[in-house]
Amino acid sequence: MFESLKSKMKGLFSKGKKLEEEQVYRQEERELEHQPAPVDTPSAPSAPAAEAPAVQEPAVPAEPPKAEEPRLSRKEMLKLRKQEKKSGAPSVSHAPVGDSGKRIKEDPLDEILDELEIILLEADVAYPVVEEIKAGVRQNLVGRKYDRSYTLEQVVEIAIKDAVRDVLAINEFDFDGWLAEQQRPTVIMFVGINGTGKTTAIAKIANRIMADGKTVVLAACDTFRAGAIEQLTIHSEKLGCKIVKQDHDADPSAVAFDAIEHARSKRKDVVLIDTAGRMQTNSNLIEEMKKMVRVAKPDLKVFVGDSLAGNNAIEQAKVFDDAIGLDAIILTKIDTDAKGGAALSIAHTINKPIAFVCNGQEYGDIIKFDTEWMIDRLFSDE
Ligand code: GDP
Repeated sequence: MFESLKSKMKGLFSKGKKLEEEQVYRQEERELEHQPAPVDTPSAPSAPAAEAPAVQEPAVPAEPPKAEEPRLSRKEMLKLRKQEKKSGAPSVSHAPVGDSGKRIKEDPLDEILDELEIILLEADVAYPVVEEIKAGVRQNLVGRKYDRSYTLEQVVEIAIKDAVRDVLAINEFDFDGWLAEQQRPTVIMFVGINGTGKTTAIAKIANRIMADGKTVVLAACDTFRAGAIEQLTIHSEKLGCKIVKQDHDADPSAVAFDAIEHARSKRKDVVLIDTAGRMQTNSNLIEEMKKMVRVAKPDLKVFVGDSLAGNNAIEQAKVFDDAIGLDAIILTKIDTDAKGGAALSIAHTINKPIAFVCNGQEYGDIIKFDTEWMIDRLFSDE
């Protein structure tokens, strides 16, 4: 997944070697460096020099250390470092950025940031998001001091991951938590261009909701295509849930209204509305969507976008957002050779959260989106 972006990023991390660095010590540390080696005290950590070489650090630290790691005094830290120096292996992992250590100089960083920009643009990341990631990386590196046990490559990797994490984390959406708080029937409307995987995504969501013991009604409101009604009917039969449909060419808002009435009278939990997504007659489509929103008053309006469509998916989302106001996004087909751009930039660009990503054609191929999952996919070695 996102293979080309991943491999290019890896190449970029290695360019970290080019960065110049300067040693930066706090005054207190400088003084300690020139004192004889400190003597063991009862409070000192038990890390005798003889044991240190046995501890091997992984080549690339996965993440900055967690808060629960032992906090050592500066004196203890210096002692450990001296032991590490002797043994050639660091015995504890440290936060890469701190108030002493090495410091990155600004000029050589520009070259790395220019290359990062090209990599992200080639992966179809939207330009404002590229700018934001670059600014984040610069802020994470320039003038900041980092721990001497990290290599420059590792520091660049962590700075890039953190900047991407910041862009992704602007808003996450807990669909299950949200649904649990809604009155029934909860009405969810799905919009998006034909072929993006909207109908399949609706079936996946229905399957997920039903697995949680709730009842679902499907509303076949893409009355423009007879095939769409058939397709949703097949899903309703497979899933064992009710479908409300009318003939091809019926008024989609009327179908939505009927489905909600049915759910209300039968005390069903959730209505999932499929909508048309023809591109050719876009202005009619938008008017149709607006009317459906007025009639169905959906509790959630979800845009379904194809991650293969890159920046086009973002443009489509903007059109729907301007017309009806979106609440969340589902990004499909991330199992294909999507470049990663849409996944990285869609939520940030339209300022709406990604609720789910779809990674295949089976009902179970839907994953609740979260930032760390995405970071793992973008940067993992698999
Ligand atoms: P719609 O026109 O937007 O309703 O799109 P469909 O739901 O009919 O899906 C179009 C095609 O994309 C179908 O062949 C689906 O099986 C396929 N598809 C949908 N979601 C995914 C996905 O996450 N991964 C892959 N590989 N294919 C998908």
